[in-house]
Amino acid sequence: MSSNTEKLYTEFTAEMKKDYTILAPDIFPTHMEFLQKVFELNGFNVEVLHDEDRSVIDTGLKYIHNDMCYPAICVVGQQLHALMSGKYDLHKVALVQFQTGGGCRASNYIMLLRKALENMGMGYIPVLSVNFAGLEKHSGFKITTKMAMQAFYALAYGDMILLLKNQCEPYEVNKGDTRKMVLRWVEKIGRQLAHDKGMTDRELRENFKEIAADFHVIPREDKKLTKVGIVGEIYVKYSSFGNNGLEKFLLSQGCEFMVPGVLGFFQAYIKNIELDYNNYGGSRLKLEISKLLLKKIANWEKYMDEALVPYPEFVAPMPFDKVVELAEPIIDLGVKMGEGWLLPGEVAELIELGYSNVICAQPFGCLPNHIVGKGTIRRIRDLYPKANIFPVDYDAGASKVNQENRIKLMLAIANEEDK
Ligand code: SF4
Repeated sequence: MSSNTEKLYTEFTAEMKKDYTILAPDIFPTHMEFLQKVFELNGFNVEVLHDEDRSVIDTGLKYIHNDMCYPAICVVGQQLHALMSGKYDLHKVALVQFQTGGGCRASNYIMLLRKALENMGMGYIPVLSVNFAGLEKHSGFKITTKMAMQAFYALAYGDMILLLKNQCEPYEVNKGDTRKMVLRWVEKIGRQLAHDKGMTDRELRENFKEIAADFHVIPREDKKLTKVGIVGEIYVKYSSFGNNGLEKFLLSQGCEFMVPGVLGFFQAYIKNIELDYNNYGGSRLKLEISKLLLKKIANWEKYMDEALVPYPEFVAPMPFDKVVELAEPIIDLGVKMGEGWLLPGEVAELIELGYSNVICAQPFGCLPNHIVGKGTIRRIRDLYPKANIFPVDYDAGASKVNQENRIKLMLAIANEEDK
């Protein structure tokens, strides 16, 4: 096993940093643009891939066994598709994947990609990993603590913009106003990040206030829409490619939706360090660092909340600590495969915030998320009798019509309840 692993490994050297393009899959809307700037700031030329048609899936299926998780087929497919497009000098290109390093199959995406490259005769292309678990060492690609912090700031901005976009777009009077505002702020924050600005707590706080004020002035209709929450596996939850344009569909059905922030996923990851320490012991230093980090991010949550206070029409997300509290009566916090306890915690958060119709987006066959998603519905309904939760499976072979029909059924139930 180890010899195979070594055979497939191509190092990304410091030399390569100068003129290689690193291709990243498009995972989170907005956030990826900001992460790209953080990479640029640290001397890496990263390009986020946006190809999203059926040929991308077919490329994924050609090189990855269809038993593998759907997100793997999408993200690996997107990268291989780009390599085959003829757009890149294959001897000046590298690929990057994001890994949690947990026990889930996501930890194997890197090896799948390397194996696919080998089969395509492109084994010389380096495959990099962004993770906080110290996996995959490359002499020319190191995630420093400073860079990790910059990435967290980038995610915080992405979350703020996502939150306000979702609450403005369904109500906008002039179609496209919200989109324009998003682009304006993506450009503005992107410029700041690229110049090593916007990444102190003071700047974040000020930017949050300005962002909220700007979104507030978008002319919006005063109308009642069905409120829908979206939870699920991280890729299909955020990626319109992964969830067949779920957000667009919900907009077409006259819904307002809330998707919990990306940063929450990382807060849960960091919180698990504490939970693991309590259950199994481990490094005290790691524990203390994780607590400091959570405290810092908790301050950012306060800044977000504070920025939204003057505009009561906007619903602020709950502090992460509260989400943990809400998850506890539903599931043991030791359950951490896939999205783990975070998923039911977010369902409870959304219901408490008024988004009691919840879509649980999960890749077909994703056992961990079926356990923490579908598996907790009964318990959540016991605690929140009004909860209208619908798991929706996403897969290369799943029909978009079936998915949309399920969601329509959920909305029909929601409308009945409202009568
Ligand atoms: S969470 Fe689900 S989709 Fe993601 S790697 Fe694990 S099994 Fe696959």
